[in-house]
Amino acid sequence: MNSLSSLRSLFLTTRLNQCRRLSVVNKLKEELTSEQVYQREKKYGAHNYSPLPVALTKGRGVYVWDVEGRKYIDCLSAYSSVNQGHCHPKIVQALLSQASELALTSRAFYADVLGEYEEFITKLFGYDKVLPMNTGVEAGETSCKLARRWGYDVKKVPANQARIVFAEGNFWGRTLAAISSSSDPTCYERFGPYMPGLSLVPYNNLQALEEEFQENPTTVAFMVEPIQGEAGVVVPDEGYLRGVRDLCDKYNVLWIADEVQTGLGRTGKMLAVEHENVMPDMLLLGKALSGGVYPVSAVLANDEVMLTIKPGEHGSTYGGNPVASRVAMAALNVLLEEKLPENATRLGNMMQNELKKLPQDIVTVVRGKGLFIAMVIKDTGAYNAWEVCLRLRDNGLLAKPTHDDIIRFAPPLVINDAQAEECLDIIEKTITSFHK
Ligand code: PLP
Repeated sequence: MNSLSSLRSLFLTTRLNQCRRLSVVNKLKEELTSEQVYQREKKYGAHNYSPLPVALTKGRGVYVWDVEGRKYIDCLSAYSSVNQGHCHPKIVQALLSQASELALTSRAFYADVLGEYEEFITKLFGYDKVLPMNTGVEAGETSCKLARRWGYDVKKVPANQARIVFAEGNFWGRTLAAISSSSDPTCYERFGPYMPGLSLVPYNNLQALEEEFQENPTTVAFMVEPIQGEAGVVVPDEGYLRGVRDLCDKYNVLWIADEVQTGLGRTGKMLAVEHENVMPDMLLLGKALSGGVYPVSAVLANDEVMLTIKPGEHGSTYGGNPVASRVAMAALNVLLEEKLPENATRLGNMMQNELKKLPQDIVTVVRGKGLFIAMVIKDTGAYNAWEVCLRLRDNGLLAKPTHDDIIRFAPPLVINDAQAEECLDIIEKTITSFHK
């Protein structure tokens, strides 16, 4: 081939690729039915989720709309990420204005917003320092690394013998460390070998925790959710968190509170640990730290723990970037300005009281704190939580089952009285329809 024809062939191939790409883009823009949305995801996406069949395209406040224009009240809030409501204007504005100014520098350079955010969040929660990450599981991973490092440098645990204890039924994400500390076979089976140095104790059992600490003096940390979310909104006995604090002090163990789901107003306080007036050594935040518009997570701790990690020993390209920092400040401010924890207490109590009046031959238990509520569906063999969620969807409310028999209700905390009543009406209508 002479050079002219090879140039022509290069030109033609480039044009062809451009046309192909254009046709793909145009096709992606076509309006799809819900069914087509499901099928396309099924065809091109990994099958690592089983979403409730509803194809959403828009969200505002407590409401979301599907591609056919049907409106639903969102009672999942993206697993408590959207506490401030969908597309909160102040958070979206923070995202847009920072994204058009300076979006990412990496931590190779300083960016002016990060320090402002760090000062804001550490003063707000009363810790010396924050380590910014992106997702909840990264916050968990970071806290495990910090705990191990503290164990070697401060507690003087012999090299490579640090142990971290977790509670059975925990959920803190999907990384290898997270699944290595999981008691749920669906999370860990056939993903071994597992991370060593992690052990489990029963949740809400201080005696078992003390025995674990006594038998294993190389324990450096206990990570626990103040209320277990994915396990089905499991609320521990009053005094458990204070007991955890006391035992961790007694055995020189760091307490890591995973508030990725319970934190930021969901249970009626900014932090769920505030219900017992205790302060963990490490606090993990995520999800609602951005109000659902960006992945933002954080580990908060005091200097004795945080300064054990030195430059180059941990990090993330996106962690603490200017957009994340701005968005997190806006998201936290919305929680405070709009008194969303207080709203969660008031409407949470109201909703729980009403839900407890549902027929007990279908709804056996209602539990929770604030607007973190679970309803247990009786195992009759005739229907399960998934089928109840499908019928709730048909009646205009979105919730997701956890396990076969539990439905969680966690609407955005901006919900008002009328919208809470609307939820209750839909739930009552749906539950009683199973009598027919
Ligand atoms: N911790 C808790 C308590 C969670 O509920 C979750 C997710 O549901 C995580 C951590 C992990 O967060 P992410 O999915 O952002 O990694």
